[in-house]
Amino acid sequence: MSRISVIVPCYNEQESLKFYYEEMSRVMDEMSKDGVEFELLLVDDGSRDATLSEMRQLHELDNRVHYISFSRNFGKESAIYAGLSHAAGDYAVIMDADLQDPPSLLPKMYRLVTEEGYDSVATRRVTRKGEPPIRSFFARLFYRLMNKISETDLVDGARDYRLMNRKFVDAILSLQEYNRFSKGLFGWVGFNTKWLEYENVERVAGETKWSFWKLFRYSIEGIVGFSTVPLTISSIFGVLSCVFAFLFMLFIIVRRLCFGDPVAGWASTATIILFLGGVQLLSIGILGQYLAKAYLEVKHRPIYIIKEKDEAEKTDGASGDKLG
Ligand code: UDP
Ligand code: MG
Repeated sequence: MSRISVIVPCYNEQESLKFYYEEMSRVMDEMSKDGVEFELLLVDDGSRDATLSEMRQLHELDNRVHYISFSRNFGKESAIYAGLSHAAGDYAVIMDADLQDPPSLLPKMYRLVTEEGYDSVATRRVTRKGEPPIRSFFARLFYRLMNKISETDLVDGARDYRLMNRKFVDAILSLQEYNRFSKGLFGWVGFNTKWLEYENVERVAGETKWSFWKLFRYSIEGIVGFSTVPLTISSIFGVLSCVFAFLFMLFIIVRRLCFGDPVAGWASTATIILFLGGVQLLSIGILGQYLAKAYLEVKHRPIYIIKEKDEAEKTDGASGDKLG
């Protein structure tokens, strides 16, 4: 008999959580008939609303439900890591609390890993219905760019909704980095992954936690975490402008010797200086991004800090340390 750990990162999800539980418990009951055991691991990512008390109630109500609560908002990536390190099941699945990752897909995903020998089953949405067009545009641009500059395969529209077997989970847990970009990590570890496609579903209640700015920073995280191409580009740019400057210098010397032109035009000089100053600052900025990430990595800070867990989580020795 196998056991699935369902990991649900929750940040201010007081409205969605009960809808999620209702739907998920239907799926769990259904699959239990085929002898699958469940552990529903709710990770409260420092919510400021009633999410935690909602979780406590669900835990009272149903002994399959467990929860961990962070001391502050550490971000979804940290919540995923915490969930995976507490998961005791043979399989683990990551799912959003807003029902944008339909629980009804789970039986099919489970069948694919158990019967067809995949190590993980991932999902991607093929439409971006209900999303602001400008956001979809930048998201597409990001995936195209990432696939050009990084060796890790990133799939456009990939969700974090994914079922993994123990081998896959352990591989993810062995990546201890502080700056976590799960979409990249999942691809980086390899294994056999089956992709399922579905139409985008809008969130059941509450609102999205991702502002445009937050997504922008997240995409920088992805680029810096999985590619060093920006560093190469700034070096290439440096070399090209040196070559160009040298040729230009020759041109000016030759012109002066042959035609005796007085050199005119401070405007062009000013433009060139400004341009090169800009390129230099940009390159230092790119370098700084990598340095900043390295700086955070070498501090070895915990990925999350737990404030509270339910009783079973506290006594369960396999659940790991207090700090991630
Ligand atoms: N989430 C989280 N920590 C955060 C932001 C989001 O745990 O800092 C959770 C959130 O509760 C939800 C999931 O991550 O379960 C996806 O978030 P959301 O639905 O806001 O993102 P979207 O679906 O709009 O990309
Ligand atoms: Mg959502």
